[in-house]
Amino acid sequence: MPALSTILWVLGGLLIGYVLWKSGVGMLRGFTSPLPPPPPAGEMRKVNVRYRCTVCGLEIKLMLAPDEDPPPPRHCMEDMVIQAPLYD
Ligand SMILES: [Zn+2]
Repeated sequence: MPALSTILWVLGGLLIGYVLWKSGVGMLRGFTSPLPPPPPAGEMRKVNVRYRCTVCGLEIKLMLAPDEDPPPPRHCMEDMVIQAPLYD
């Protein structure tokens, strides 16, 4: 026969675990919320721009965007800076 305090500890632990689990599920739901569908391919603009992450130095090349002047992507929690546009 376990002591009453032991039973209370176990119940408290179960309650905390349940709350954590529920909040974790809520966070997962927030991350997996559906994104808006991409516009039709015909409405995409061909762009040729390089972006650089000022924090880690990563560079990417953007080739398709919904408009001519897309907002910069983010990396390392910062807006990436635009490099000279490439024309080929
Ligand atoms: Zn980065």
